[in-house]
Amino acid sequence: MTLDQKIDSATALIRGVFSENGGAACVTCSFQTECMALVDLVTAQQPSIPVLFLETGYHFPETYSYRDEMTERMHLNLVNLAAKMSVAEQESQFGILNQTAPDRCCSIRKVEPLFRGLGDYGVWFTALRREQSPTRANIQAVDHFKLPTGHQLLKVSPLADWTNADVWAYLKRRGIPVLPLYDQGYTSIGCAPCTTPPVNPNNPRSGRWSGQKLECGIHIQSE
Ligand code: SF4
Repeated sequence: MTLDQKIDSATALIRGVFSENGGAACVTCSFQTECMALVDLVTAQQPSIPVLFLETGYHFPETYSYRDEMTERMHLNLVNLAAKMSVAEQESQFGILNQTAPDRCCSIRKVEPLFRGLGDYGVWFTALRREQSPTRANIQAVDHFKLPTGHQLLKVSPLADWTNADVWAYLKRRGIPVLPLYDQGYTSIGCAPCTTPPVNPNNPRSGRWSGQKLECGIHIQSE
């Protein structure tokens, strides 16, 4: 499929979801390349859609600057989702969890705030792509997601079949700048303490958590 066909297909999927689902929709965004392509496509149809950013308190300074710059430039309805405890409170109570217990740190700073935030919505757009990682190879463009509270959402990933090259070509075509950290060799960018350039050139997410784990847990379905 050509990029034009993928854009048409993603646009049609987003339009169909908006017209068939009355519930409030949101889009999660980490301000990485695929997120910017998705946000551009979704806001073209619903400019005021809430753009949820996981404000862990551990992002790179460049990520915060880019988030603010793009929020202003694209007139985004940015919603920062933060943990109940600050970084300082967490570190004084538990130490540096991203070094000793990253799953727990992600649970406190990402999973809990996101799941709490998603409770307000019926549709969740994500920029997940199958090519990103072996852990994402089987994702569906349209899926159902159940929060631990039992609240059900439609989870929509319009870029599921997009390649990394598709994403970059789309951003170039649309004149959307990327987070400057890509110039330094990063291929997947999350919290600063847990992000390095990839350790496996065949897996763009292998620079996350030094390759020790690939997911923070926000895309893992509750049982
Ligand atoms: S990615 Fe690292 S710093 Fe960020 S929430 Fe997870 S463990 Fe903590």
